[in-house]
Amino acid sequence: MPSIATNLAQIEKTLRKETRLIAVTKTKPTEVLMEAYEAGTKRFGENKVQEMVAKYEVLPKDIEWHMIGHLQTNKVKYMAPFVHLVHSIDSFKLLKEVNKEAGKHDRVIDCLLQIYIAREETKFGLSEEDALDIINSPELATLKHIRLVGLMGMASNTDDQETVRLEFRSLKTLFESFKKHENDRVTMQELSMGMSGDYLIAMEEGSTLVRVGSAIFGSR
Ligand SMILES: *Cc1c(COP(=O)(O)O)cnc(C)c1O
Repeated sequence: MPSIATNLAQIEKTLRKETRLIAVTKTKPTEVLMEAYEAGTKRFGENKVQEMVAKYEVLPKDIEWHMIGHLQTNKVKYMAPFVHLVHSIDSFKLLKEVNKEAGKHDRVIDCLLQIYIAREETKFGLSEEDALDIINSPELATLKHIRLVGLMGMASNTDDQETVRLEFRSLKTLFESFKKHENDRVTMQELSMGMSGDYLIAMEEGSTLVRVGSAIFGSR
């Protein structure tokens, strides 16, 4: 088995400078995160709030914590003091909760709208119409403790690379089309797409953030 440092270096070498790597550390113990940290990675992705909080508390404070998993509103308060980017906003209600909790800490938390792009599976996410409703909502202008900075999506879990590519391409198209709706609370800067099996395709299709776990740390 190649080391974590070797895997990280290998992946970093293949990425364009527009595409940054998030090391997805869910289920991995803090020793493993420290190994990645020592190898120079400061951007970690987790999918459960409690697990992220527990790791945040014991690890160096210059780590950027990315919430990539489905979120329940009642968990938002635990991560509000420190989370760097929430990738998984899939309802207006959740966004308002992030705004409320961010306000308690005098923070502005950056968020992405998670868009449903996979054809085959039911995954969490908004439709294009739902996303546009949020972006154009008058109420959004009142949410001063969040910013929508882009979109996130997960492609179908399939070996058919062409399907995956077309799904990523459709998300990139949406991302570009939303630029004309940018406003005080909305900018289209980050496009979070790509995992271990498809991050190269995602990068080619314009991803700015790839979320890679097993290709760095081995299978879970
Ligand atoms: C687990 C997870 C990843 C990373 O998956 P790998 O296949 O291990 O790279 C990426 N994004 C989300 C939302 C995840 O839950």
